[in-house]
Order: sequence, then C-alpha cells, then structure tokens
Amino acid sequence: MEAISIDRAAKKVTARNVDTGEETVFEYDKLVLGTGSNPITPPIENLDLKGVYRLNHLTDASAIKQAMDAGEVNDVVVIGSGFIGMEAVDAVFNPRRSVTVVEFRDTLLPGILDTDMGQLLYKNFYEQGLEGRFGERVLKLEGEDGKVTKVITDKGAIDADAVILAVGVRPNVGLARDAGITIGETGAIVVNEYMQTSDSDIYALGDCVENTHLLTGKKVLAPMATYANRQVG
Ligand SMILES: Cc1cc2nc3c(=O)[nH]c(=O)nc-3n(C[C@H](O)[C@H](O)[C@H](O)COP(=O)(O)OP(=O)(O)OC[C@H]3O[C@@H](n4cnc5c(N)ncnc54)[C@H](O)[C@@H]3O)c2cc1C
Repeated sequence: MEAISIDRAAKKVTARNVDTGEETVFEYDKLVLGTGSNPITPPIENLDLKGVYRLNHLTDASAIKQAMDAGEVNDVVVIGSGFIGMEAVDAVFNPRRSVTVVEFRDTLLPGILDTDMGQLLYKNFYEQGLEGRFGERVLKLEGEDGKVTKVITDKGAIDADAVILAVGVRPNVGLARDAGITIGETGAIVVNEYMQTSDSDIYALGDCVENTHLLTGKKVLAPMATYANRQVG
C-alpha cells in the first residue's frame, strides 16, 4: 500500500494498493511518518544505459552482485565517495577488476573528512589498487548497443562496463508537504525533541526528518539508521 494523502482536519490517511489501485482510508489519532529518502539523480546524460546501477534497495545490490558474479564486469566506476559510494567500492573491489571512484569534491568521504585525512585514507586505498579522481565532475555516460562503455567527466574519459551512482539521498517529504506539514531549510520535515511535526498529532522520524547537530545546534540532514534508531526511544 502506498499512502497517497493525509487529511489532517479529518485525521484520515488514504492509501492505494499498488497492484490493484484500490484505495483504503485509515483513521488515526496519532500518525507516524517514516517515509525515508530517495536517491538523488544527478544531471548526467544517459543514466538509462544498461550497466548503470544505484545502491539504495536490496534489488539494486542483487543486480550489482549478479553482474559481478557473471564475470561481465572489468571496469567499474563509482560516482560519489560518500558512505554508500565507499561501501560500493568495498563490495566490487577485486584485484582482477579496475575500480575508479569519481568525486567532485577534493577528498574521499568529503562529508566527514578534511582533505588531509581523506588523502591519508586514499593513499591506503590507492596502494591496494583503487583509482580516485577528485575535483572531477561526471558530465555524461557513453554506451554501445545500449550498454555503458565510458564515463565522460570535465577532465577526461574513463572506461566503464559498470557504473554505480552514489551521490546521496534526499528526504522523501512529498506526502508531508502536501498535507501542509512544515518542511525545514534542509528539505526535511521539521520536528521537535519529541519527534512531533508542526502538527502535534503527527510524528516523523528517520531519513525524512531534520536532525539537530550536537555541536553546532544547527539543523542538518543525517540519513543514518543509527540516528533513526535513537529517534524511536
Ligand atoms: C547502501 C546503504 C548502506 C547504508 N548503510 C548504513 C549504515 O551502515 N549505517 C547506518 O546507520 N545507516 C546506513 N544506511 C542508511 C539507512 O539505511 C537509513 O538511514 C535508514 O534505512 C532510514 O530508515 P527510514 O525508516 O527512515 O527509511 P527507509 O529505510 O528508507 O524506509 C522508508 C520506507 O517507507 C516506504 N515509503 C515511502 N513513502 C511511502 C508511502 N507514501 N507509502 C508507503 N510507504 C512509503 C519506502 O518504500 C521505504 O520502505 C545505508 C543506506 C544505504 C542505501
């Protein structure tokens, strides 16, 4: 079932059966939103070529594993070197394969590491065979017979028979926004310390909400299961 609308005045949620299209209305006293996040699709041409993967659902992971196990893949390019990009690198890394990570910022894990620490980490990966291209932006993909063959960046071309897109996620807030619930500057749902939204009968948690940074006190996006777990307790 997909929840498609919230009627806050009547305290009802309408959901649609994704197979049959049949709609059901649920009444609530308190409602909890845990709509998660969606992978960002960057403005890169030809993302629909075969051999281009995301890594956000189990089905994505299965598709990547299947391609690797079938021995079809010699050159992997991972776009983005955040947590998910680096997990992808770890998963596909193999001495018989070339693995390149392209990151438009200047280091690995740029969301959490300064450049000097990132370079130290990269040195270790480089010695094991990872190619890192930093400060480089992917513009488009090229292919033959519908299958990806090259990644074109603003600095050159990289051979690729598999490309994994890992450029981050965006909070999935459409349902909340349409219901008139306040969305913060970060793009996620605003909640107080009890995880209540701007409607006190509607709570939200997980990737779809803003977090408060413990040091700066600023609102931040932190789409991690570790934080989601704590929001429940
Ligand atoms: C590859 C990968 C590795 C990760 N590794 C880590 C890690 O090591 N440590 C860590 O802390 N975090 C990790 N994360 C992040 C972690 O998975 C998320 O932070 C966590 O899943 C968020 O939980 P959630 O319940 O908010 O959202 P989700 O797990 O995304 O669940 C939201 C669910 O809501 C459903 N949904 C959305 N809208 C509707 C609707 N309208 N109606 C009905 N259903 C709806 C979605 O289909 C989805 O199933 C990883 C994420 C990825 C992709």
